[in-house]
Amino acid sequence: MIATATTPSIKQAEKIAYENNKLHKRLCRLVGEAIGDFTMIEEGDKVMVCLSGGKDSYALLDILLTLRERAPIDFDIVAVNLDQKQPNFPAEVLPNYLRSMNVPFHIENQDTYSIVKRVIPEGKTTCSLCSRLRRGILYRVADELGATKIALGHHRDDILETFFLNMFFGGKLKSMPAKLQSDDGKHIVIRPLAYVREIDTERYAAVKNFPIIPCDLCGSQENLQRKQIKNMLREWDKKHPGRVESIFSSLSTVVPSHLLDRSQFDFAGLKITGEETPDGDIAFDDEPCASPHTNTLSIQTIQLHNQRTTKHSDVEND
Ligand code: SF4
Repeated sequence: MIATATTPSIKQAEKIAYENNKLHKRLCRLVGEAIGDFTMIEEGDKVMVCLSGGKDSYALLDILLTLRERAPIDFDIVAVNLDQKQPNFPAEVLPNYLRSMNVPFHIENQDTYSIVKRVIPEGKTTCSLCSRLRRGILYRVADELGATKIALGHHRDDILETFFLNMFFGGKLKSMPAKLQSDDGKHIVIRPLAYVREIDTERYAAVKNFPIIPCDLCGSQENLQRKQIKNMLREWDKKHPGRVESIFSSLSTVVPSHLLDRSQFDFAGLKITGEETPDGDIAFDDEPCASPHTNTLSIQTIQLHNQRTTKHSDVEND
């Protein structure tokens, strides 16, 4: 009786431990891949990890700490939180956590909340000014700490949402880069979670029991357009498995010659080379060409078409 009651729970615990271990390994692999693909971290770097108290930045810090242990190169990590003096911000949560993890950290106290409230009229969205102020402060802190890289916790879903936001509302094919030069031209900003799905950072935060700080303390409404895009992507993921992965993969497989941006491809200077392009315009030919039977038909159709064209040309030439 006792054995029957305990056996399933031990098995269950083992299964949970196995799944959690798999999740940790997956996160380490994906973050490692992104770091490698974009040469995000190099020997001697001091990486400033921006910690907001949300699930993503906790996951980022945690995974970077693991990878640092295993990395063949030496680099330092310093965690930085900007306390924006939002009402009810639990100022002790992050310092306590970081001390417990033995991570060097810096808390920057700047009352951007009051500035934003003073400058932006009630009811208007405050995020753009708030982020601008935050960015400037974090760049300065990076200088003061001697950080060579600034790591942000944006993940794959943030990148996809930004891509669609820019396309739907900005008329641009543009997303969040995995690595970029900061606006002030002085820093390299990296996004090591670029390949990680949000659902994995959610699960990881639950597994690790991170002391999450709510992100709505400023009282700002969630960006409605971003929320719509997020729902759209989640819906696609449910109804059409693989579609979102394919879209994400397309972001790293861009073919400028098959788009319409003249600044990305020299259409004016396009010349005949006489060489075939294997991945040219045939890639999305109609399905019927795929089977041998229809191939025969296609050949017949082409022959027929050629005969007609020849006749027609003949008439024209007459
Ligand atoms: S949600 Fe609040 S804290 Fe975050 S960027 Fe917007 S105004 Fe700033």
